[in-house]
Amino acid sequence: MSAGESHPSYPVDTHGDPLTFNVSGLLAEPAGAVREYRIDDVEVDLGEDLVLVRPVSGRIRLLRTNRGLVVESDLDTALAGECARCLRPTVTDVHVELAEEVLPTIDLASGLPVTLEEGEDPETPRLTDHHDLELRPLVAEAISLAEPIAPLCEPDCPGLCEECGERLTPGHAHGDGPIDPRLEALRAFRVADDEVED
Ligand SMILES: [Zn+2]
Ligand SMILES: [Zn+2]
Repeated sequence: MSAGESHPSYPVDTHGDPLTFNVSGLLAEPAGAVREYRIDDVEVDLGEDLVLVRPVSGRIRLLRTNRGLVVESDLDTALAGECARCLRPTVTDVHVELAEEVLPTIDLASGLPVTLEEGEDPETPRLTDHHDLELRPLVAEAISLAEPIAPLCEPDCPGLCEECGERLTPGHAHGDGPIDPRLEALRAFRVADDEVED
């Protein structure tokens, strides 16, 4: 994070939600105008299946365009998960880089509804009637999309033992009597060998 960008460039009216911004001031400015905001430790609810380990922090940049705004984000958080091989809890760092056009619902100058142009995606995010930018759903969606399909607790997680269900730590073995430490070292060596062949 570079110096000079760590503070909001303008006072923020957030309506109590740090991810909602009233942008009527910015809409009154010509295309090319920019505002930057700092987000600190914001909790985002992702539903039952997805849990943040760390709240969301970073920067939001709003660029006035001819028709509306482009929202750019540089946000960091982390998702809780379960290792796909050994079922241990995992933490996956997530970086949210939005680059999303958001269009007004009401034209600031005329007060008339803004209609989408032909061919424009009806799913294009819109500002509210009161020129509020509600980023929460966009951020939540971007985080959800970043959920890894098969997270691993560590890159070379050995997984679970088929025999006993325990995690296959180096030296994990079954048999009678105490394990000879020299054998244990040998097993650890063989595990490492197998990984190379993968
Ligand atoms: Zn694992
Ligand atoms: Zn076992």
